[in-house]
Amino acid sequence: MPGYKKPCLYCGELIDPDSKFCPLCGKTDPTGPIRCPKCRNPIEKNFKRCANCGLDLHIKCPKCGKDTFFGSYCDACGAPLLVACPNCRAEQPPVGDKCVKCGKPFFQK
Ligand SMILES: [Zn+2]
Ligand SMILES: [Zn+2]
Ligand SMILES: [Zn+2]
Ligand SMILES: [Zn+2]
Repeated sequence: MPGYKKPCLYCGELIDPDSKFCPLCGKTDPTGPIRCPKCRNPIEKNFKRCANCGLDLHIKCPKCGKDTFFGSYCDACGAPLLVACPNCRAEQPPVGDKCVKCGKPFFQK
C-alpha cells in the first residue's frame, strides 16, 4: 500500500518520512525537523535565531565561505556545517569558540 512520503529537505525527492538518511542525496534527517546545532531545539529555515538558546542561525560556511542558514548542511555548497577541532580532531558544529570535546579554544590568534 502506498505510504505517506515527504519531500527531502535537500533534494526534494519524495522519501519515507522516518528515513534517517535520504536514499537519494545521502543527507541526514532529510525530512526534518531541522534542529538547533547548539541546543537541538527544532528550528525553521526562516528563523534568525534559535527561540530556545538564541544562537544566531546565519553563519559563514566553513568550507565555501558563503552565508548560509545554520542547519546541518551549507545551502550553497552542501557541505556539512562542521569544523574539526585542531587539537583532538572532533567534528562539531561551529557554535562556540571552544571544542565541545576537549575544551581547547579553536582559534588561537
Ligand atoms: Zn535528498
Ligand atoms: Zn538553540
Ligand atoms: Zn558552503
Ligand atoms: Zn578538541
